[in-house]
Amino acid sequence: MITRNSDSVQGVDRTWQRELAEAYRSPAQLLTALDLDPAQFGDGLNARRLFPMLVPKPFAAAMVPGDPADPLLRQVLPIGDEFADVPGFGPDPIGEQDGPLPGLLHKYRSRVLLMLRTGCAVNCRYCFRRHFPYADHRVGQAELEQARQYIAADTNINELLLSGGDPLMARDDHLAALFEQFRDLPHLKRLRIHSRLPVVLPSRVTDQLVTLLSSLPWQVVLVLHINHPNELQPELVAGLARLKAAGVTLLNQAVLLKGVNDNADTLVALSETLFEAGVLPYYLHLLDRVQGAAHFEVSEDEARSLMAAQLDRLPGFLVPRLVREIAGQPSKTPIDLKLV
Ligand code: SF4
Repeated sequence: MITRNSDSVQGVDRTWQRELAEAYRSPAQLLTALDLDPAQFGDGLNARRLFPMLVPKPFAAAMVPGDPADPLLRQVLPIGDEFADVPGFGPDPIGEQDGPLPGLLHKYRSRVLLMLRTGCAVNCRYCFRRHFPYADHRVGQAELEQARQYIAADTNINELLLSGGDPLMARDDHLAALFEQFRDLPHLKRLRIHSRLPVVLPSRVTDQLVTLLSSLPWQVVLVLHINHPNELQPELVAGLARLKAAGVTLLNQAVLLKGVNDNADTLVALSETLFEAGVLPYYLHLLDRVQGAAHFEVSEDEARSLMAAQLDRLPGFLVPRLVREIAGQPSKTPIDLKLV
């Protein structure tokens, strides 16, 4: 069967996988494609050794050629600041490396998080999991069955979160098989998928995926990770419209990042652009203090000022909640917005 975004056979859309295989892995190649001279960035590009570079071409296409400070480029380009050893920044900033089973985290009473895939389609330099020992958390068929039994035994759990890596790295037929396995759990009410994949590789929103999500017995929520309005390119917006038409609730969580979105105009434009695309701004996260990402940090006071500007310029429902993840806390911690 030939489908949208596909020239494949047997119902499996492979276009996004091919685009992923063609992603930029070399900083020099990415910079050259953007009409930038790699020499301008010096030895800093060696930070790819700390965390590999991975940038799909559709995401790179949304960057402004010739602009070394492009906010999308800044999110993905290895730079020398990553070598800085800054007190307070460590390998596991939110203390999540222990779960009841491999690949399963149970931080919240009613929700479990399944790390379905260990890879991502992009390596964000600020990623709080850039040091995560994914190799110890691989989820195969045996682990999935263990997770199913764990959820079946705890009727407090009403929501399954799929995370990763990025859960949409799983093929549609694998997702379908997974959902089939969990379908008979009567206390499961919601499926929440956290993904940045449609943002960096819009072809991931296949017809099969849309049909699959619309066929599930649960309310389905897709939480996108979009940090800058320039990320909402036309193909992504079209994919979001199809998901929304299929009944998927679309939310966004952004990370407040220095040099990317730490100004009121950008944050206001992000909320407006998200809502035009049918997505509600949900959370604005303060940076998780992961080693190698200190140069992205925006202080709490600056964040409060930016929230005040948004409250001034946006209707309340378009103002995301400012939160921080604190290791050991059962939920995200809201930041008091009182200005100092
Ligand atoms: S998509 Fe999310 S999990 Fe993957 S590298 Fe980026 S921030 Fe990390």
